[in-house]
Amino acid sequence: MRNFLPTNTELQKLVDFQENRSAFKVGVFGYGVVGKAVVDFLLRDGIGSLRVIDGNPQLQHPKLDEVEWCLGELEALWLEDLDVLFVGPGVDPRHQYLLDARSKGLLIIGELALLGQFPCELIAITGTNGKSTTTAWAGYLLDELNHDAFIGGNLGDPITGWALNRYPGESGVLELSSYQLETAFGFAPKVSVITNLASDHASRYSTDTEYFQAKSRIYHYQTSEDICIVRSDVLALLKDAPATSLYTFGENVEGDGFRRLPDSWLGVGKFTGLSLEWDSLSIPGAHNAENALCAVLAVWSLRGQSDSLSELWKLAGGFRGLEHRLEFVSEVQGIRYYNDSKATNDESSATALEALDAPIVWLAGGVSKGAGYAASMKYLSSKVSRLIAFGHASSEISSEAKTLGFDANAITEAQTLSEAIGIAAENAATGDNVLLSPACASFDEFSNFEERGRFFKDRVLELRA
Ligand code: ADP
Repeated sequence: MRNFLPTNTELQKLVDFQENRSAFKVGVFGYGVVGKAVVDFLLRDGIGSLRVIDGNPQLQHPKLDEVEWCLGELEALWLEDLDVLFVGPGVDPRHQYLLDARSKGLLIIGELALLGQFPCELIAITGTNGKSTTTAWAGYLLDELNHDAFIGGNLGDPITGWALNRYPGESGVLELSSYQLETAFGFAPKVSVITNLASDHASRYSTDTEYFQAKSRIYHYQTSEDICIVRSDVLALLKDAPATSLYTFGENVEGDGFRRLPDSWLGVGKFTGLSLEWDSLSIPGAHNAENALCAVLAVWSLRGQSDSLSELWKLAGGFRGLEHRLEFVSEVQGIRYYNDSKATNDESSATALEALDAPIVWLAGGVSKGAGYAASMKYLSSKVSRLIAFGHASSEISSEAKTLGFDANAITEAQTLSEAIGIAAENAATGDNVLLSPACASFDEFSNFEERGRFFKDRVLELRA
């Protein structure tokens, strides 16, 4: 298996680099949002010369005297005289030229290794799903507690931007993707969180084991002084157990954590006696109860376990969720509208259908991911009163629903999302939930899921007029 665990020589080189960056010839591969911040950071640090490599031959970039630009398809030559190469999250370090250069001594690192020691304590959050929601939820709690913290990473502002501003705030809450984690040598947050782990077919990994191992880097350098929070079923997927205090949650919990009951969390181990009821949360679904628990436990751990967990849980009830993720839009004539435009695949739509109460008028469509709709269509008979399939995938979606025996009279095909919304408004009855949870990409009509979600919300708000 190809992994990126560093050798001792690489770790020593990293320490030398962090102590005196200006003595190294550095390359930055990937001039995206993070790459730009890294260039600014390194130039501020006094790096004498910098080479920026980017696959886009037409890349727009500023004129910087200190920077040599190497644009277009990667050439092995560009790597030969470098000591250290920063790779942005969009660059796969498994590229053959990178592997060859590494074997000749090039130190390949990501943002977290590049930054080195953080001057404050961190919560780091990863997982297959729920990363952004949990990160924002922890940020909400800290804000409510007047605890000044940076919230960012994969969500929002890049971590290097925070470093560039000399780390304002008392703490950081970082959302981390597996891409950021696989090159995070030496990174040791005080609190790590893995919300859940599932196969991610869209990822760059050739096996689940490789993907899970990248995720496990979040706790790899933590010690017994630190804390790791994971869903209990994740533990079986991890090669090495965390060396930290461990808090788990799920159906089966050993040690310290929270057992899942139908509508609440029951504390076990050191949390015995606590019961956290889900109905105090403002956003629906068992998955959000998991995100809330991760956020509450992470904030409680970060702040030295001095807050009351029940009080934090109560506070968590004020969080209204992130835009486009099962976002409540409005109630119009007794019909409640939800925008779940972020659900661009079957599993995400299944999560939304599970979370909302029946009867649901389900709007699904856009550009098919080609993997079918088995997970979400499990909920057709129990939850969905009408299916409105729209866009490119409309006939694919409606025929799969018919094949599964869903009443053909309860299915409508629409050309566009706009048409689908009109049909939903005409057909829904008082008490229905109208859910846009497309299970598809958006680019037959929109440039991204955000644009699709905003379009939906605007149209729903017009219905109120
Ligand atoms: P991420 O940042 O990991 O992509 P988000 O918080 O943006 O996750 O949520 C994206 C979608 O993932 C949500 O719309 C929901 O369908 C699903 N989801 C969120 N939290 C969870 C969870 N804890 N377990 C399973 N699915 C989740």
